[in-house]
Amino acid sequence: NNENPEYLKPKIILFGLRRSGKSSIQKVVFHKMSPNETLFLESTNKIVKEDINNSSFVQFQIWDFPGQIDFFDPTFDSELIFGDCGALVFVIDAQDDYLDALTKLNQTVTKAYKVNSRIKFEVFIHKVDGVSDDFKIESQRDIHQRATDDLQDAGFHDIHLSFHLTSIYDHSIFEAFSKVVQKLIPQLPTLENLLNILITNSGIEKAFLFDVVSKIYIATDSAPVDMQTYELCCDMIDVVIDLSDIYGLTVEARQNQELSAFDNKSSSLIKLNNSTILYLKEVNRFLALVCILREENFTKQGVIDYNFLVFREGISKVFELRSKKLEHNTDDLSD
Ligand code: GDP
Repeated sequence: NNENPEYLKPKIILFGLRRSGKSSIQKVVFHKMSPNETLFLESTNKIVKEDINNSSFVQFQIWDFPGQIDFFDPTFDSELIFGDCGALVFVIDAQDDYLDALTKLNQTVTKAYKVNSRIKFEVFIHKVDGVSDDFKIESQRDIHQRATDDLQDAGFHDIHLSFHLTSIYDHSIFEAFSKVVQKLIPQLPTLENLLNILITNSGIEKAFLFDVVSKIYIATDSAPVDMQTYELCCDMIDVVIDLSDIYGLTVEARQNQELSAFDNKSSSLIKLNNSTILYLKEVNRFLALVCILREENFTKQGVIDYNFLVFREGISKVFELRSKKLEHNTDDLSD
């Protein structure tokens, strides 16, 4: 595909034992399946390579392997799989005995690291909805300890693992994916800077730059992220998408099977009864800015809208520059 050169798409691979929850994660995050429906998912028994290019800005692929994949099988092409991989997500079922999973984690990580030492290794300690807070902390500590000890014992001192507690029944899975994806976006510091400038000059409390389809936030300003605020913004995206899908699609668009009416004119404003305002503006076909601000700071909408236009222009320049630079030098993807 010439329009979307391969090197612009950070690739994420999901690994994990059978029934650890890989397909569920993929369906919930990228296909808007509701968590309860995942109970009826067929178990994966073949290598599924899913490419979610067209609908999502975060252009990565998910490779879903059966837990029983054999790295020592000569037909297993690890170059092909790990060579251009940005992040490897290993899913561990926290409600199950995880010793087998830890062995597999060690094999997978060391194998991948030998092929490509730039891969970011992310461990999702998953299904933590059914367990107590104490259990969460304890299993995270235990898994962290064992996994890093195993790597040390095998002589891999440079491999760094990151850990996330996740569940598809709340927003933790989106939050974890946001962190994973952000590590793969080379423009992140610039995006954060643009967001910081935008909020200080517009009286905004907090702003997220969202990938609309997945509700992953690819950047936010430097104020700390509060889970409730993030959830509120996710819910707002759902409302806007649902409404524009009902009222926004023209007959033509429906005939052309366009999936979403979210376009470059989408915007929405919600006033909450605690004098807070949620303001959503599209940035481009994939991205939206969602801001939270206090009602008393919303007296001059014109100023905010103007600042937003400047912000949007900045964003498009950042990505333009990046693509141009990459056309000349594909090697600097790693930094
Ligand atoms: P896969 O074989 O790794 O693709 O695993 P599946 O996606 O098929 O998931 C196996 C089972 O775990 C399904 O019944 C899911 O409903 C369940 N599951 C997945 N994620 C979660 C979670 O976060 N919490 C709970 N309680 N169950 C989950």
